[in-house]
Amino acid sequence: MKRFLWFSGAAALLLLCCGCSRGFSSSDISPKRYVDTAMGTVINQTIYAADGKAGEEFPEKAMGLLKELEGDLLSWRLESSQVYRLNASGGREEGTVLSEELWDILERCLKLYGDSQGAFDVTMGPAARLWNIDQWAAGEGEGEFQVPDARALEQALKACGSDRLRLAEEENVAYLPEGMQIDLGAVGKGLALTRLLELLEEEPEIEAAVISVGGSVLTYGNKPDGSNWKVAIPNPADTGAMVGVLSLEGQWCVSTSGDYERYVEVQGVRYHHILDPRTGCPARSGVRSVTVLSGDGFDSDGLSTACFVLGPEKGMELAKSYGAETLFVMEDGTVLMSEGMKAYFTEA
Ligand code: AMP
Ligand code: MG
Repeated sequence: MKRFLWFSGAAALLLLCCGCSRGFSSSDISPKRYVDTAMGTVINQTIYAADGKAGEEFPEKAMGLLKELEGDLLSWRLESSQVYRLNASGGREEGTVLSEELWDILERCLKLYGDSQGAFDVTMGPAARLWNIDQWAAGEGEGEFQVPDARALEQALKACGSDRLRLAEEENVAYLPEGMQIDLGAVGKGLALTRLLELLEEEPEIEAAVISVGGSVLTYGNKPDGSNWKVAIPNPADTGAMVGVLSLEGQWCVSTSGDYERYVEVQGVRYHHILDPRTGCPARSGVRSVTVLSGDGFDSDGLSTACFVLGPEKGMELAKSYGAETLFVMEDGTVLMSEGMKAYFTEA
């Protein structure tokens, strides 16, 4: 049995941000680089600050923010988080009052559920816990990995389904049916990019930055030497290599969902972490990875997961309706991309 937690989008969405420095003045700013882990993945930061102190202090502030985001809001594992408390409230008649932030996130999740015809579903917690791919991939499973029993999977699927999660706008109340469990793993890293962007905007001394949170990357500002940001798209068949590079100017969010990120392989069959809500099993859409380019972190991350399940045809249409661009790497190695993506992509 092979287990794999691909640490990371980080290593792989290689941030090719060196570029040669031309001219003087602000191009003399040398980037500060910082690597750490949070939210179960690798965080890579490259910061260009006019004032050295601001540049040195930012990475620690960013790490504090990510740990708080996970511990206070997003984690389904940590008792301190709002999602944990919501998950403990299943079946409560009076519902649960949420913070405005979580309520807004869930509202966006329900919209994406509808727009993706159910391919994106944050209520898949019961099925995801049954597979437990994240833990197995991280080497935290006990004994031998077992494919969930069909009856158990059927039972778990009965507890899932965003169409049964009700949100009431007055007082930000959510009504979670008994047994349902929210899992924001598909948008957490994108939400982190939005928070990091807000933090960067509070720091006038920081001119530009590129930060990756696992498979989601934020570019901010323009590199002092005038060259574009280069974000590599990993090759799923050889994650040390890439299929190509996106060349970007200014602020963008780039998220990749792939079957190589977290998986267990048993007798040549790969069980990965992106589930098809129709079957409760790892999605088999002929896709190995999807990269989504958007101005917004929730959209890039949520759409990359949805597009993985939907496949290229429906996925591209969905992303287009959100103003996002897509690139699919298929099982046979073919690269398919939306018309707009072609302006940013260069093949390796
Ligand atoms: P990502 O790597 O962004 O594609 O997110 C994958 C994670 O989202 C998984 O580890 C699960 O926690 C969760 N997930 C899996 N399948 C789905 C799905 N169809 N819709 C929403 N979330 C999902
Ligand atoms: Mg995602």
